[in-house]
Amino acid sequence: MNSMSIWKKTSSLPSFENLRENIKTQVLVIGGGLAGILTAHFLKESGVDCVVLEKGRVCGGTTSGTTAKLTFQHGLIYSRLLKEKGEYAAREYQNANAEALEHFAKLCADKDCDYEIRPSCVYSLRGKKLLADEIEALDRIGVSAKFEKELPLPFETDGGVTVENQAQINPLKLAAELLNGLTVYENSPVCRFEKGKAVTDNGSVTADYIVISTHFPFINSHGAYFLKLYQNRSYMAALKNAKPVGGMYVDENEKGMTFRDYGEYLIIGSGGSRTGKDMRGGERLDRLTREYYPGAQTVCRWAAQDCMSLDGMPYIGRYSAAAADMFVATGFNKWGMTGSMISAMIISDMILKRQNHYERLFSPSRSMFKKQLFVNGLESAVNMLRPTAPRCPHLGCALKWNASEHSWDCSCHGSRFASDGEILNNPANKPLGR
Ligand SMILES: Cc1cc2nc3c(=O)[nH]c(=O)nc-3n(C[C@H](O)[C@H](O)[C@H](O)COP(=O)(O)OP(=O)(O)OC[C@H]3O[C@@H](n4cnc5c(N)ncnc54)[C@H](O)[C@@H]3O)c2cc1C
Repeated sequence: MNSMSIWKKTSSLPSFENLRENIKTQVLVIGGGLAGILTAHFLKESGVDCVVLEKGRVCGGTTSGTTAKLTFQHGLIYSRLLKEKGEYAAREYQNANAEALEHFAKLCADKDCDYEIRPSCVYSLRGKKLLADEIEALDRIGVSAKFEKELPLPFETDGGVTVENQAQINPLKLAAELLNGLTVYENSPVCRFEKGKAVTDNGSVTADYIVISTHFPFINSHGAYFLKLYQNRSYMAALKNAKPVGGMYVDENEKGMTFRDYGEYLIIGSGGSRTGKDMRGGERLDRLTREYYPGAQTVCRWAAQDCMSLDGMPYIGRYSAAAADMFVATGFNKWGMTGSMISAMIISDMILKRQNHYERLFSPSRSMFKKQLFVNGLESAVNMLRPTAPRCPHLGCALKWNASEHSWDCSCHGSRFASDGEILNNPANKPLGR
């Protein structure tokens, strides 16, 4: 699986020097993906002195592998939230994401980022009941959605739930525009912290506030993110000469397919499963491509993974009760475009000491007594006790060889390493064998 996404192929990002001195700033943002960039942008717009430190190249992480649909329709989230958290939480979740969409509309209006309004549709192959429940849930929180029986997909479905006026972008083109005004250091991985100071190999940044937007947070002494998150990996392709779908489509089943157009390309994806568990996702996507689009040409293939939270909502806010000046944005459950925008809204308000209506809903300290917590704990315990080498430098879990992608994968927390030991995906912060 080569890792050239369609976004990397069609955009060009500015490059930045690495950090080679000890500097001071008001806010340090660690991680130059969309969450970090939007947060730094919001802070800069409010006159705050802000520095971004990026481990590799900006947007070299999940942001470059996304499908970049901007929507408040996150699978069948509203029937789930109504059942698990009640009507208030479901309404607030939708309001926050709808506000994020409005922010994107304003931000993208004068930027070259291929922003396009599109309908969003969640379809099912498992019967109409799930869809009817979601329409009812959306209706209860005041959102208009319709059932559609016939969808422009290359297979039969049981229909879908459609909401209008959502959007899609090229995320790297947007990032390139925003990066122009920011102070960024690339190839500057933060390897440790001293009081109020983040240290890299060649310099340090002392800051009043630190934002951890590194995708999977890598500080294990606070917040227990290693228990509250796991990673889920998907496989993507951009096809030429494939029939456009005209909207944004996703299966309610996380293992199902996703579709959107980008100019002359059709972007498809499939295979969501826990990193390190199912290593055949790329082959499955190739098979689906041949079956459904036999005349199409695959222009790019890539894979990407995202952090999954315990309750389907991201963790945004104070890193932990014991780390008052440190903030986090993670656990986007593959909906981190609006998630990144909500992070920027909440974290910039918290730093600027402004009330934010959504602070409580997304607080990383919210109660997390969920079945998935035990699944994550069990997965870690089993892999820590497995007596095989190599071990993950993050927390010592046994790694598995992924023959399809030629990588060592950790099913506990989702770190991945190339065959020579280089880090491909965090939270590991050190290569294998060092
Ligand atoms: C296949 C797929 C499809 C998706 N589709 C959608 C979609 O259609 N709509 C949607 O809303 N969301 C989607 N998502 C989710 C969304 O893409 C992600 O949630 C979002 O891009 C995450 O952004 P981020 O900034 O948190 O992480 P990243 O983009 O991974 O950025 C984190 C950055 O931190 C850096 N970093 C890590 N450690 C350090 C360190 N120690 N020091 C310095 N820097 C460090 C990394 O190098 C990286 O650049 C999708 C996700 C996947 C996997």
